[in-house]
Amino acid sequence: MGYIDEENVKRELIEVMKIMHDKGLMTGIGGNVSYRMPETNEVWITPSGLYKPKLNTEDLVKIDLEGNLLEGVYKPSMEWPIHTSIYKRRVDVNCVLHCHPPYATGLILAGVEFRPITLEAALMIARALTVPFIYPGTKELGEAVAEAAMGSRVILLQNHGAVTLGYDIYEAVTAMEILEECAKMTFVAKCMGVKPTEISERDIELLRKLYKL
Ligand SMILES: [Zn+2]
Repeated sequence: MGYIDEENVKRELIEVMKIMHDKGLMTGIGGNVSYRMPETNEVWITPSGLYKPKLNTEDLVKIDLEGNLLEGVYKPSMEWPIHTSIYKRRVDVNCVLHCHPPYATGLILAGVEFRPITLEAALMIARALTVPFIYPGTKELGEAVAEAAMGSRVILLQNHGAVTLGYDIYEAVTAMEILEECAKMTFVAKCMGVKPTEISERDIELLRKLYKL
């Protein structure tokens, strides 16, 4: 594990919030992101209540896996239990991102199961489990999401949004972007009154081998 510059991590986290907001994947107060310093129990996370696209690196807070404040002046995101519950279970995950992507979230409400209909999605999002509605900010929601995260990089939250995970920030952000793109394509196909054609399981397997995923 190479040296990871914490200031650089913090800059990237606030950049992620700007990108997600610009893409319409969250309102200014509606998303959060965290990064666990690899092989530690220390997590940088966005603060609660602040307007996320305007964050400065000093606004971020550092917590441990029990939610105790280690650094920073603000309270951590109210969704911190989602982040820490995942980090406790998945040592391979160092970034957790939560947004409210409208198409992906809307399709769940319409009862449309997520299907990886693009090449990127087939490679990046094998499956996306949906967690039923649970009050935001609770330990119960954290546990349910972490449970669903055991075999999936993307978790959908009914009446709420989505959570993506990654070994690093790039992976979590890419999964969120692919999820929403795929949901938009599904929506367009459904508007045309057709079921989107899927990439066959056989082709997906083949592609995985080809790209060594
Ligand atoms: Zn939320």
